[in-house]
This record gives sequence, C-alpha cells and structure tokens, in this order.
Amino acid sequence: MRIVLCGSLGRMGRMVREVAEERGHEIIGVDVRGGEYEKLEDAVDKGDVVLDFTVREATLSFIPVLEHAGKPFVSGTTGFSDREMESLRKLSQSIPVLWAPNFSPGVNLLFRLLSSIPEKLLSLFDVWLLEAHHEKKKDAPSGTAKLMLGLLKKGEAFSIRSKDEVGTHHLFLYGEGETIEIIHRARSRRIFALGAVIACEWIEGKPPGWYTLEDVWRT
Ligand code: NAD
Repeated sequence: MRIVLCGSLGRMGRMVREVAEERGHEIIGVDVRGGEYEKLEDAVDKGDVVLDFTVREATLSFIPVLEHAGKPFVSGTTGFSDREMESLRKLSQSIPVLWAPNFSPGVNLLFRLLSSIPEKLLSLFDVWLLEAHHEKKKDAPSGTAKLMLGLLKKGEAFSIRSKDEVGTHHLFLYGEGETIEIIHRARSRRIFALGAVIACEWIEGKPPGWYTLEDVWRT
C-alpha cells in the first residue's frame, strides 16, 4: 500500500514510517518542514490512503483537498473543538474517515473495559483521571482522557506536561471504603504507529463513512 503521510518529519511521523516500511508499505511523506512534499495537494494522488499526524489547523486545512481527491483518510491528530470535529464527520459523507485519539492496542482494550461498566454500579464511584505527556504536547487534557471520561460519562481530568513522557493515563475510581486504580503507560510511540498502520490497511476499499478503531478490531 502507498501511504501519504502528513506530518512525516514529526515524532509520530518518523515512527509511522519505520513501522509501515517494516510491514511492506511505501511512504510518501508530506511535511511543511521539508518532507518529500510540502503540501498534501501535490502528493495526494500518489497514494492509496492518507494518514495524518500533524496539528489541528493542518488537519482542518486538508479537508477540501481530501474531499476532492476521494482517498480514504486516517487521522490521529488531537485537540479539535466539537465544531471542528463536526467538519471531519461531514467529510465522511464523501470519503471513508477514521479518527482515533489513541491508536495503542492497550488503550483500546481499556476503552472496551470502561464502556462495559453498568451505569448503576458506576454511580457508586467518583472518577478522577490523571494524564501525563511530554512538554511539547499542545492540547490538554489529552484526547484519550476526554474519550475515557466520555465513555464513563463522568469524572474530571488533570494534566501533567513534563520531559519526554510518552503518555500515561491513571484512572481512579473512588467508592465508599475502596479504590480502583487503572494505569496505562505507553513506553514507546511504536504502539500508536502500529495501530495507525493497521487502520490504514483496514480502511482501503471501504465505502464513505465515519469509522473508529472499534470497527477495525471487530472485522
Ligand atoms: P510533532 O509536532 O512532532 O509533528 C507534527 C508534524 O506535522 C511536524 O513535523 C510539522 O512540521 C507537521 N505539519 C504541521 N503542519 C503541517 C501541514 N500543514 N502539512 C504537513 N505537515 C505539517 O507532533 P507529534 O508528537 O508527532 O503529534 C502529532 C499529532 O498526533 C498531535 O496532535 C498529537 O496529539 C497526536 N498524537 C496522536 C496519537 C494517537 O494515537 N492518535 C499518538 C501520539 C500523538
């Protein structure tokens, strides 16, 4: 598969190139800092699928280009407002779009566990979430933290930005006389890259629509 990779010179982009090439794919890099191409419009026709790890402003600027090119789009970029997210959803009327705030298989397993807790049982617990990331991460709380609390429909998130932390999510469920703590620690960016490349392999040939990693794991 030929993957047009937006943000190819970034932390995630470099890792995606490594993983994708190991799995036998070709990368066509796009990066404003001087990739093989600097603009998506010059590269989009050369690939089978577009994968994006950039910044929210860049992702939003890709929308008309993607709509015109008709190629499937996978994005891991985070930090969108609800309204911006809506414009990505609208794009999925014309092309297949898969967005995920966290491509790690472990975090996705955790999402599954959290979404299976019955509301009545969860109502007996207070929910707190502490997330830590490297100091260059632009958005806070992380997209993953928002999604976790969204699945539980309650709780508050706190953020730490420090050094080279790849990403930790520490969930506390406080009941009367008992506490549950669930911790996910990302030790390497490879876990996100692998999930994203698997999503690209999955989305090729799908009809226009809004997809999540749940669809990828299920079929
Ligand atoms: P980064 O700053 O290291 O890399 C971003 C790259 O995008 C840079 O090289 C930059 O030059 C490039 N870029 C900016 N505007 C562009 C444009 N218009 N066209 C092409 N390239 C452009 O950031 P990062 O750590 O690689 O993270 C990128 C995004 O991915 C962030 O939003 C981050 O939160 C998110 N992220 C998601 C996951 C996940 O699993 N979904 C995991 C890690 C990071």
